[in-house]
Amino acid sequence: MSVLVVGTVAFDAIETPFGKTDKIVGGAATYICISSSFFTNKINIVSVVGEDFPQSAIQMLKNKSVNTKGLQIKKGEKTFFWSGKYHNNMNNRDTLDTQLNVLENFDPIVPEEFKESEFLMLGNLMPSVQKRVLEQMKKRPKLIVLDTMNFWMDHFLDDLKEALKEVDVLTINDEEARQLSGEHSLVKASKEIFKMGPKYIIIKKGEHGALLFNKKEVFFAPALPLEEVFDPTGAGDSFAGGFIGYLAKTNDVSFDNMKSAVINGSVMASFCVEKFGIEKLKNINKEDVKERKKEFINLVRFNKN
Ligand code: AMP
Repeated sequence: MSVLVVGTVAFDAIETPFGKTDKIVGGAATYICISSSFFTNKINIVSVVGEDFPQSAIQMLKNKSVNTKGLQIKKGEKTFFWSGKYHNNMNNRDTLDTQLNVLENFDPIVPEEFKESEFLMLGNLMPSVQKRVLEQMKKRPKLIVLDTMNFWMDHFLDDLKEALKEVDVLTINDEEARQLSGEHSLVKASKEIFKMGPKYIIIKKGEHGALLFNKKEVFFAPALPLEEVFDPTGAGDSFAGGFIGYLAKTNDVSFDNMKSAVINGSVMASFCVEKFGIEKLKNINKEDVKERKKEFINLVRFNKN
């Protein structure tokens, strides 16, 4: 099954207690695509970059079997830029700068051959752009997943609420779930968010794992306790890539299979945080993913008696 990924392709400058980077390649869609590529080789991207974006990074995506026909390159313009600094606990971060650049007037054009993609991942991006992509699909995808962040809640809440009416799964972190719902308890927050449209909600809690809700049940996936966490940037997107990639591979969107998808998402996120930016994800292979999945299974296996 094919996955259509929408989201930022970006330059990031990141500061963590372990170091600092200059502009490196990042962006929600970049992480999602690389992560999904471990599960499916039918990945289509719709996004935009400026003339300053390196051809080598686009080639890297192509090498991961990402079809980049929907990646617009804007002459004379600059790529979206984000800079962030993590607190000592690595779970919280401050955004230091967000320069929309090419995103400011981005009109997403979904290539004809992408319009029947079965799985749609609306990665973190302007909610109106997420909606424009959805409107161009020839038929409703089998599953629509949307990820977002506080920036869009602060500045484009109405557009976000419009987009939420259309989606099946919302992935969001704990603080953002509280902001969106106005509820501190994550269980109450999920109930409020269900009223906005999604049928499933995944609340990511950084090193404390992730919760998957439907209206009746909840499932918990831990995060793997890691010796070294260098940079959490992109962990949420890598999670989303693993989640939707696994669902596309298995072509099963039941709640039970979503539980496995959440574990696969957690596996991908655990790799992401081990190095700065996309460095680690770019260099692992399917065998590494298989091995790490075993570690997850062992982490939660116990004798029921
Ligand atoms: P995550 O750590 O999973 O939230 O994702 C971090 C990635 O999101 C970085 O590579 C940034 O380029 C990208 N990003 C940061 N701010 C935004 C934003 N407002 N909209 C879309 N993508 C963003």
